[in-house]
Amino acid sequence: MRSRPVSRSFTPAVAQVGEALHRQAGSYLRSIIRCDGLTCQVCATPIDEGAALCQQCDGHQRAGLPLASRTGFVVYAPFGTQAYQVVSQYKSERPGPAITSTMAGILAVALRGHYSCSAGLSGLGDTYWAVVPSTRGRLALSSMVEKLARSTTRRVQISYSGEEGRRVLDPSVWAPETTVPPRSHLLLIDDSWVSGARAQSVASAMVAAGFEQVSVLVAARVMTPGYGSNQSFIEDHLTSFDWQRCPWTGDACPD
Ligand SMILES: [Zn+2]
Ligand SMILES: [Zn+2]
Repeated sequence: MRSRPVSRSFTPAVAQVGEALHRQAGSYLRSIIRCDGLTCQVCATPIDEGAALCQQCDGHQRAGLPLASRTGFVVYAPFGTQAYQVVSQYKSERPGPAITSTMAGILAVALRGHYSCSAGLSGLGDTYWAVVPSTRGRLALSSMVEKLARSTTRRVQISYSGEEGRRVLDPSVWAPETTVPPRSHLLLIDDSWVSGARAQSVASAMVAAGFEQVSVLVAARVMTPGYGSNQSFIEDHLTSFDWQRCPWTGDACPD
């Protein structure tokens, strides 16, 4: 398991946010681990011996729908932990400044530091971005990402026509509000991944609508500590937070 720091040059602005995030939340945040044989190739949770995917991601793949081409995660957020508090409460009415700035820092490092990593991995020249809309009409994620975006003309708005709070694999309730340019890549941003059904439904709908590839970037992989081998994974494998680690590889950025 890697624990050495990743070295790559980041812009001074990204480095400043990364260092501030480390000072503020480094004591409890834990970086995502990508390791074949240990964690799911899609969602980075522990897998059964000999498996490549966790049961949920395996189920999505068996549905036979187009899914995200790649997924990136920044931190784990096991239920009941401070990390979970950040990712669940930042969108509440009064989250408090520490929670807001920690969530904004996670998104800033991921988006400003590794936007080009997903574009490079796609091999497509044209990258657009979108936020997974809240099924409860909350705008917190959207407004945080808007503040970090360099180009609003590259934004794709997504509409949702399903029920509130629904989490099943169903692309039919999501649609882009604009026509999709040919041979383009979409970076789809979400705050949390619980089963992955929501993000994969949106990704699937975007591919069906014409995007050649969809990369899903998620701030936090939510975990249930009591499920399967999650608790021993949390105790034995999670290492301290390294803001420089690439959300797409769990290691150094791709070349
Ligand atoms: Zn998985
Ligand atoms: Zn990267």
